[in-house]
Amino acid sequence: MVDRSEQLAVLLAEPAADLSALAALCGEVIADQKRLHNRLERISRISDGYQGELMRVNRELAAANARLSKALDDVRTLSGFIPICSKCKRVRDDGGFWDDVETYIGRHSEAVLGHSVCPDCQDASHRHAGVATVALTQNDEADAEGAHLSDVLANDAWRGHPLLDEYQRLSLGFQKLARRLGKISRISDGFQTQLKHLNSALARASLTDPLTNLPNRRAMIEQLERASEAARNGSGFAVAMIDIDHFKRVNDSFGHAVGDAALRMLAATVAQMRREGDFVARWGGEEFLLLLTNCDAVAACAWCEGLRAAVEAARIEHHDMRLGITVSIGAAAHEPMLSFEDTIRDADRALYAAKSCGRNTVVCAEDL
Ligand code: GH3
Ligand code: MG
Ligand code: MG
Repeated sequence: MVDRSEQLAVLLAEPAADLSALAALCGEVIADQKRLHNRLERISRISDGYQGELMRVNRELAAANARLSKALDDVRTLSGFIPICSKCKRVRDDGGFWDDVETYIGRHSEAVLGHSVCPDCQDASHRHAGVATVALTQNDEADAEGAHLSDVLANDAWRGHPLLDEYQRLSLGFQKLARRLGKISRISDGFQTQLKHLNSALARASLTDPLTNLPNRRAMIEQLERASEAARNGSGFAVAMIDIDHFKRVNDSFGHAVGDAALRMLAATVAQMRREGDFVARWGGEEFLLLLTNCDAVAACAWCEGLRAAVEAARIEHHDMRLGITVSIGAAAHEPMLSFEDTIRDADRALYAAKSCGRNTVVCAEDL
């Protein structure tokens, strides 16, 4: 940068200073100062980014430590049914496999299915001999014990023994109890499976917006965290904030149900148009956020322009009504040393500019 203060000093030192030259120089000095100020602001944002990153890593370390000690505690207090294969020793989760086999066996025989051998380890003889010979490992022991008792009691040496009837009654009672135990353990396993399915359905629901079926803000934040991590290794990304124009008017003029239909139409359009690897979420109200992977500002704006035109051309059908909406979009490319919150702020600023210059338009943060 030219040392303008030196030039200024020279001009001021002249007794008959040329006022217009002085004014021009002052203008340049002010412009230089503004540029310097902008650079300083940018550098301080980047440095904040570094600090934030350091704090995040520290927090992650602390959380990992906490998880580790909790995992150790959990191992010490381990309880409940753990489906471990007795042959390969792996913990198995075969979805509905065991349930299906158990239901089949329950319907077609008196047998009770055991839980200790996984499908990969069932040997050929079990597989070919059909349902009747499926390993009944859990009840095997009880059955073998029962069979042993029956063998013992069938021995001639017992004939005429005064306690024979009592022994036989006890033996049958033992076998009955063993079967009931097997049944109860099957029911408890069924409940555990149901609970597991419910938990994963709950986890899915907590990341989905029920109106549009798109991922919600929380799901998007998880993706943004992953994308910012990857960006540090060189995979750049951009975000686009999409907002329906005058949406309040749509609700006020046509009703909330039509507003909802408009939201669903926009969600479907973005989801259908997004490129492989891109992620779209309902950010809140009538705003949607799109994460464009491996994308710079120019490509992001070109893609957004296509979306803007597609939304403008689409029509919302509701009963016998057909109406159109438009969207304004603000796009921003992510800078690796800034946080994704900074990038969203940039996209928001661009969206605000798009609204200010008449709506139904795309503005790129880099052009501001
Ligand atoms: P602008 O062009 O400046 O964005 O104006 P706008 O009217 O779109 O923005 P404003 O923020 O004033 O209004 C947003 C409206 O979106 C208000 C709110 O009732 C509506 N809205 C938010 N969520 C839903 C929803 O789930 N369904 C419906 N039908 N409307 C919603
Ligand atoms: Mg809005
Ligand atoms: Mg709006």
